[in-house]
Amino acid sequence: MINQCKLCKKNMELIDSHIIPKFVFNHLKKTSLTGKLRMTQNPDLRVQDGIKLPFLCKDCETLLNQWEKPFCEQIFKPLHDSESKIESLKYGDWALRFAVSVSWRVLEYWRCERSLEGLSDVQLQATEVALESWRKFLLGRANQVNRFEQHVLPIVGNELPIDVIKSTSAEGISPFLNRYLIRGTQMDVIASEHSAFVYSKLGRVLIFGFIKEPCRSKWKGTKIFGIEGTIKSRGNSIPQYIGKYLNEKAEFSRAKYNSMSLKQDKMVSEIQKKNLNRIAELEIFRAMQLDVELSGKDAFKKVPK
Ligand SMILES: [Zn+2]
Repeated sequence: MINQCKLCKKNMELIDSHIIPKFVFNHLKKTSLTGKLRMTQNPDLRVQDGIKLPFLCKDCETLLNQWEKPFCEQIFKPLHDSESKIESLKYGDWALRFAVSVSWRVLEYWRCERSLEGLSDVQLQATEVALESWRKFLLGRANQVNRFEQHVLPIVGNELPIDVIKSTSAEGISPFLNRYLIRGTQMDVIASEHSAFVYSKLGRVLIFGFIKEPCRSKWKGTKIFGIEGTIKSRGNSIPQYIGKYLNEKAEFSRAKYNSMSLKQDKMVSEIQKKNLNRIAELEIFRAMQLDVELSGKDAFKKVPK
């Protein structure tokens, strides 16, 4: 199909591109019990892959792909491959480019296929400027992203940003929090009264692309720099309402999980029985154990009496 490429704006044959990079789904599949993925929107449905859309021409797809590999190898895999206490991960100039490419794709997707109606007029204007700044940066026509910064919050080992969540969630911490923070994949555009962000969750890697953020001082240790830098597991801080948002999303995942049909429940428990020797090693099982430690029996699905 000939259409305008969203990045270079040339009329070209467009190919289906992943919005969230494929390596994230490959990891989730490889580390799930069934080797398949389940859509949160409809947990009864298993899917093989994330959302793909004809956004880019082949040249632009190749351009963005080159930053995926170092990010996957040097940041994503070390964070997911072990339970070890990684204290810091060094990155090069590919990290900002990768983060911008994800935020740009998600925001373009939101603008074209979803809705930005929750954003104020000022935030909507900022969205257009952010998209254009990121586009120029990705194409090498600008060498910085200015105020449209990228921030990465890593979920390292068992260290969750629980303090932020505890202090903001009156109902308490979600019994699904570990499973959401460690395994969840998500994209969203988040707005408060003054601030707006693109949020992309790649398992343990949480990327925030600033659309409008007048309170930069509330973010500590998370900014991705253009040339090189270090992603650290400790000493980071994020605004409190982001903590509250993450807890709400964990509750949302829990509600979806609880709504899984009885037929599906039976199938999952059959698969579990057949794979008892493997279960303990799986990331999802360890995340669940952590939820049990944190929330006791609330971590399990409620069975109707
Ligand atoms: Zn293109």
